[in-house]
Amino acid sequence: MKMRISLIAKFTFSTSLILLVFMLLLDNINNKNFRKVMIGYAVSNAEEVANIINQSAYDAMMRNDKNSLYHIIGKIAESEDIAHIRLIDQKGQVVFSNLNAEIGSVIGKHADECIMCHNSESPDVPKLNSSRIITTKSGKEVLGFTKAIHNQPACIAASCHFHGKHDTVLGLLDISISLEMLRKKSREYRLDFFVLTCLLLLMIGTLVIVQTYFLVDIPVQRLVRQSTLVAAGDLESRVPVSSRDELGELSEAFNLMTNNLGNARKELEEWGASLELKVEERTREVKIIENQLFRSEKLASLGQLVAGIAHEINNPLTGILLFASIVSSDKRLDPALIADIDRIISETSRCADIVKRLLEFSRESVAHKESFSLNKKMEEVIALMYQHPNFQNINFIKVCAPYLPDVIADPAQIQQVLVNLFINASQAMPEGGDLKLSTRMSPDGGYVCIEIKDTGHGIPEENLNRIFDPFFTTKTDGTGLGLSISYGIVENNGGKLEVKSRVDEGTAFTLMLPVDDGTMPLTPRLPDNSNGK
Ligand code: ADP
Repeated sequence: MKMRISLIAKFTFSTSLILLVFMLLLDNINNKNFRKVMIGYAVSNAEEVANIINQSAYDAMMRNDKNSLYHIIGKIAESEDIAHIRLIDQKGQVVFSNLNAEIGSVIGKHADECIMCHNSESPDVPKLNSSRIITTKSGKEVLGFTKAIHNQPACIAASCHFHGKHDTVLGLLDISISLEMLRKKSREYRLDFFVLTCLLLLMIGTLVIVQTYFLVDIPVQRLVRQSTLVAAGDLESRVPVSSRDELGELSEAFNLMTNNLGNARKELEEWGASLELKVEERTREVKIIENQLFRSEKLASLGQLVAGIAHEINNPLTGILLFASIVSSDKRLDPALIADIDRIISETSRCADIVKRLLEFSRESVAHKESFSLNKKMEEVIALMYQHPNFQNINFIKVCAPYLPDVIADPAQIQQVLVNLFINASQAMPEGGDLKLSTRMSPDGGYVCIEIKDTGHGIPEENLNRIFDPFFTTKTDGTGLGLSISYGIVENNGGKLEVKSRVDEGTAFTLMLPVDDGTMPLTPRLPDNSNGK
């Protein structure tokens, strides 16, 4: 794993490095300049000493009083900074030196103190006044300063006539000044500079750390945290924008990106959810259509079979009924048999009724379609049912939509369906209850719907798919043909019949009939919405 180096550490390190290099360079330049200035100072010091010697020794020289001269020079040479002073005559012989061992020695023309003037055949005598830096055997630095002692008019005119008037330079005054003090000062100066540099580095480093921490590290850390949150799927939180600089702009851009990501995800989720709903809806529709198709096919094939059987049974049944009725009204009939004959008549009538309904079910009855108001038809059926003993304890609730167009169907057949649904509802509520009847348009506007909703015992889930099958009944005296016939009628009229039910809560049948397009109402067409009872 790669080692993590913080931004602050990198920034501080690089800044400190640059500063250090810069300081070292500055130290070098400073040191050179300092040395130059100090050497200049030492040269002027040496020149000063030479002048002092010149002036103090003038009288002694005029008097050719060498003892006094040497004494004066010796005294001056006792100064701490002066390494040694010597006098050299025209022949290069050391005539005086504060180092006794040197006295009498001869210095060649190529010695350091002479080469400055004697490096050419004709030395430039007037310029003879120069300095040099010498490193002694013990490693100490010394500034050598040589000053020419020029012949003076007073010298020529002196009683001793010691120097001829053509002698321009009488000798050399060679002063060596120790540069140890200078080196010491330089060392001190460099140490001070080093300490100052360290302090400066410390200060600048601290400043850089603090500044970087507040200006860079904190905003960057916030961005890193935010990126982690976004990566984990949190698209709600935002980075606080606290500055107007590049990092502030970056934070703003990041927030914008997070926002856009959030919107995109929301859109995707909504799209996914709506897709799921659409798929569910389509699946439901397909299932309903499949069921309808299955039921239609079943009804069609069953219809043919039933038609054959019903037709064959109908004639014998009519015969039985006829002869039973004749026997029943015959005076010769033993009164003890009257009840049995009546029983034969009632059961045969029941069979005849079943056969009649079977024939109704199987017959391809042609629907005589016409335009009529479903609201009105509902009112008519309520009025019809109102008299029926089954509805004595039932409370009718009507909720009729205004502006309903007429439907196009066979009104007599639709009435038969409604009566059947009403009767079934009443049978589901033997103790009484509410029968809510509401009309409305279908969402697609192609049908007018009527919902017949009771508060009866409901239909168990497992029976819901079977109630439209012929002969399916849960009643002891039921035929199981009512709903299958109704279903066939509704289909034949281009409509739909749907059911929803919950056990112990109730059942709702929805009858949907196609709209007669030319009858879209402009004003409300409401029947009386009050309770039918
Ligand atoms: P039948 O009424 O002769 O039984 P139907 O075809 O009319 O025949 O009804 C079939 C079955 O559907 C009924 O036996 C009953 O179980 C169920 N059913 C129909 N309508 C309702 C309803 N409103 N409430 C509860 N069950 C019903």
